[in-house]
Amino acid sequence: RTAAPPALDVRDVTVRFAGLTALDDVSFTVAPGTVHAVIGPNGAGKSTCFNVLSGLYRPAQGSVRLGDAELTRLAPHRIAALGVARTFQNIVTTQGTVADNLMLGRHVLSRAGFAASALRLPRAAREQREHLARAREIAELTGLGEHFETPVALLSYGDRKRVELARALCLEPRVLLLDEPVAGMNAGERARTAEVVRDVRAELGLSVVLVEHDMGLVMRLADEVTVLDFGRAIAHGTPDEVRRDPEVLRAYLGT
Ligand code: ADP
Ligand code: MG
Repeated sequence: RTAAPPALDVRDVTVRFAGLTALDDVSFTVAPGTVHAVIGPNGAGKSTCFNVLSGLYRPAQGSVRLGDAELTRLAPHRIAALGVARTFQNIVTTQGTVADNLMLGRHVLSRAGFAASALRLPRAAREQREHLARAREIAELTGLGEHFETPVALLSYGDRKRVELARALCLEPRVLLLDEPVAGMNAGERARTAEVVRDVRAELGLSVVLVEHDMGLVMRLADEVTVLDFGRAIAHGTPDEVRRDPEVLRAYLGT
């Protein structure tokens, strides 16, 4: 549907918190249209890495580029406008219907804005209809089609967590950042979400950066993996390569 997204290039990124180096000179590249997993033990720096990519944290040094665009010190909404959308590890929506939540995602894209549509300006009304139609398509794509008008509070945990993914897609991103998208899900919900991520990548042609604890999911979904340990990137490669890497085994087994 759209042109291939540009590569996301993370170069020599260091993040420090009072005395603690949460990311230490981390570099990796996400090839266009691929799923790139960032894995590592608790406290390794995965969420910090996402917070740098989405503009919530400013690195002490290093850069993040999307194609020709420098993202490094831009505010989160500017980075989102350049096509990088994220989900959060621990946020699960409980307010409104699925449609309401997806329309909030569309709001950011709407030139006329919701204030204008409240005045029933004809163009705003048409844009509103288009946004609603697109929100419905995204709901179908993420397995939420039958629940479009359902209050999210009535959905299963797995469906509710996927509303967060669908909301991020409503920004029409070129790069999607998923922070532990299957955390807390049962086996069935995990498999369903894996399928959705695969469909979304194929259908929308986006690049996905995936932070995930569930190694099964990473092995099934990722084209490439970067392994963090104590803020350092200790390995890069295909899932099979990193799974056999002695330093990765040591980091996970804690020996
Ligand atoms: P992960 O997501 O891999 O579990 P995090 O990126 O959340 O790891 O954390 C990496 C390290 O940075 C941890 O030691 C954590 O305590 C620390 N850290 C993360 N965010 C902050 C913050 N806002 N202030 C201080 N320390 C932080
Ligand atoms: Mg985390």
